[in-house]
Amino acid sequence: MKKVGFVGWRGMVGSVLMQRMLEEHDLDYIQLIFLSTSQYDQNITLDSNQYNIKDAKNLDLLREMDIIITCQGTNYTKEIYPKLREINWQGYWIDASSYLRMQDDAIIVLDPINHRLIEDGINKGIKNFIGGNCTVSLMLMALGGLFQYDCIEWVIVSTYQAASGGGARYMKALITQMLSLYNLSKSILKNDTATILDIEHHITNLIRSGKLSTDEFEVPLIGNIIPWIDEQLANGQSREEAKGQMETNKILNSSHTIPIDGICVRVGSLRCHSQAFTIKLKKDISLKEIEDIISNHNNWVKIIPNDREIVTKELTPVTVTGTLSIPIGRLRKLHIGKKYLSAFSVGDQLLWGAAEPLRRILKYLI
Ligand code: NAP
Repeated sequence: MKKVGFVGWRGMVGSVLMQRMLEEHDLDYIQLIFLSTSQYDQNITLDSNQYNIKDAKNLDLLREMDIIITCQGTNYTKEIYPKLREINWQGYWIDASSYLRMQDDAIIVLDPINHRLIEDGINKGIKNFIGGNCTVSLMLMALGGLFQYDCIEWVIVSTYQAASGGGARYMKALITQMLSLYNLSKSILKNDTATILDIEHHITNLIRSGKLSTDEFEVPLIGNIIPWIDEQLANGQSREEAKGQMETNKILNSSHTIPIDGICVRVGSLRCHSQAFTIKLKKDISLKEIEDIISNHNNWVKIIPNDREIVTKELTPVTVTGTLSIPIGRLRKLHIGKKYLSAFSVGDQLLWGAAEPLRRILKYLI
């Protein structure tokens, strides 16, 4: 059995990956070694088996692995990956973080979109298989058919990204803000003489007061949105926004660059990223044809009729959380012309946006 070192299993992506591996009985065909940068030398029980957690920075141990799968983040990859290759480690490196994504010797994995590229890469001896940015992978799962048939001239995307997209601590920070807000507002909510504006002023003042923990987001996310995700780049984009065009074109192995741009926004949902697309098509295609192209592309994408009641029930983070489904709706031609299409999609950024492509490449490599 192949020895697989698993780093980052405590985090958001890692825990979802573990859950999926258990559901799919992936542990039956690998020898899994749990690694942690902080919790090593302890035991965990999983499926009634006990595992001893090892030190994720122990190079002597890591070099024995056939495959290392890491959901630990960029800093870990930056520190450990080069050292391992330096000591001539020949194993496969599977990674959720962005650090190696754009390197020539790495493939961004999203097999319903680029399985041929992945197969070619394996045959050519590529050893680094990296999960894509979550919104990029979810966009490609939703619009894959339109990209496959070269229907798209450009895409403008506005994202609505959940707190858990920043990791376990971000989601906990949002929940803590929710609880603090409730505790600090209980009395005014129960006061029958308080007007609705009294309540709004009280809550807004609390959010602004600095009393809510903002360690992770810098400003409160509760009752708020934050129109910036990740670092600031010199061209005025955020790094999250820049990944849209760079990674999409790399995954598609495009012969020319398909322009993709927009604004990425953090919102107060717990899990699932939503995205509104404005798409310029290369030619006028009927809505019926567009729906057929989209829905025939993969087993997970699902067209949601442009109907108020259905959309409000089925095209929301709360409905989609924890599923592999990629619903896409609000499909209509825009007033500005027949080649302009709007669409809205929701996807679990921890499943197709992170853990699932990694789980599938692991299985594929084995
Ligand atoms: P995360 O939740 O912050 O977990 C990363 C590591 O933080 C854990 O493995 C754990 O490492 C440590 N940690 C510290 N405090 C923790 C706590 N309270 N609960 C759990 N773990 C804690 O990060 P993540 O969101 O899974 O992201 C991992 C990588 O995947 C990043 O590079 C990220 O950019 C990428 N990614 C994330 C998402 C997403 O939606 N979150 C989507 C796509 C890609 P030790 O056990 O070693 O202490």
